[in-house]
Amino acid sequence: MALDAERIRKDFPILESVYNGKKLVYLDNAATTQKPRQVIDRISEYYRTYNANIHRGMYAISVKATEEYVRSKEMAAKFINAGSYREIIYTRNTTESLNVLALALGEKLSRGDTVLISTMEHHSNIVPWQMLARRKGIALEYVDVAEDKSSLDMEGLKAKLERKPKIVSMTMASNVLGTVNDAKAITRLAHGAGATVILDGAQHVPHMRTDVKELGCDFLAFSSHKMLGPSGIGVLYGKEELLESMEPVLGGGDMIRSVDFQSSTWNELPWKFEAGTSNIEGGIGFGAAIEYLNGIGMDNVKAHEDELTAYALKRFSEIKGMKVHGLKGDRFGERIGVMSFSIDGAHPHDIAQVFDSEGIAIRAGHHCAMPLVTSVLNEDSVARMSFYVYNGKEDIDKVVDAVRKVKAVLKIKD
Ligand code: PMP
Repeated sequence: MALDAERIRKDFPILESVYNGKKLVYLDNAATTQKPRQVIDRISEYYRTYNANIHRGMYAISVKATEEYVRSKEMAAKFINAGSYREIIYTRNTTESLNVLALALGEKLSRGDTVLISTMEHHSNIVPWQMLARRKGIALEYVDVAEDKSSLDMEGLKAKLERKPKIVSMTMASNVLGTVNDAKAITRLAHGAGATVILDGAQHVPHMRTDVKELGCDFLAFSSHKMLGPSGIGVLYGKEELLESMEPVLGGGDMIRSVDFQSSTWNELPWKFEAGTSNIEGGIGFGAAIEYLNGIGMDNVKAHEDELTAYALKRFSEIKGMKVHGLKGDRFGERIGVMSFSIDGAHPHDIAQVFDSEGIAIRAGHHCAMPLVTSVLNEDSVARMSFYVYNGKEDIDKVVDAVRKVKAVLKIKD
């Protein structure tokens, strides 16, 4: 067993709660994850014992708050093998990180330049580029999903790279299909074509080891709330020399070195990109989440999700009329524990509602990836379950029972 989910579960107070008369089975981890006591306590300790603004205070609790905030950035840097905390900018979430990049890098683009993304992207890696395209007259191009409706069309990527896009921004793992893209190959090919490479790590960093040096990417975006940490904290990693060469997007306190009536100079990294009072408790709580995941080990997290994915695929294959999207068979290891599915004759919202009556939290809809769901999967909406460190095989057994209940309630024949 890769990890002891039973023991881990005890660290999560919410998993003790009763939901519709049943103990909560939480399977919406791709949307957000639950928080262990260690994270909740770290945030509470900050508010109870050293709440103060950071950076400017000449008194003990402000110094401690600053130290803890910086320490969390050092942990985040180490977690993804960045050079130093100077390369770790805290934003609100992955979405904000990608928007900051579209604004800051977009400034340097001109009419006719191309940005290349894929049809597998979350809206947060589509809409900011559409907005940029409208503002600056640049072209937005897409790499398709391959015929298997699961993986990225790497030949299509090579063909699109021949047009020399200035920016290539791709997801490392799909929040609908669960597919883990070969981000290292994407980065190598895109760099070969002269592009700046941005990786959306929202569904990768929480689920498997992520090493920016090994990947070679220029930027990486991810969110604390999807990896046991608090909401309101996202990471924008960037190579130091690139961040140095970029203009900040937001202006105000903290991000400056000096200000006169006409102009200002910028603070050093990473503060140049963090205007105003930070989400201090969020940063500190995120540090506790990273410590927690380090305690488990990211290779164990991935192995655990592989085990659950293989088990779920096997159990679901026994159910008539249930279709699981994404890679299957011996390619199950090329996915994270995110599984979208459809059941013949059942609307995904009805599925989610019946699951809810059984205390099982899943999600139904387009999962903020409308182009993928409607054009690639040809569905209006799909049901999605997603695993994390506290889920076990018994949760999947409960899902199988709930699917039977869906069929019974909707009078779907076996
Ligand atoms: N990218 C992917 C692949 C995601 O799954 C998500 C969240 N569902 C995001 C980006 C956006 O993350 P956030 O809402 O934290 O900004």
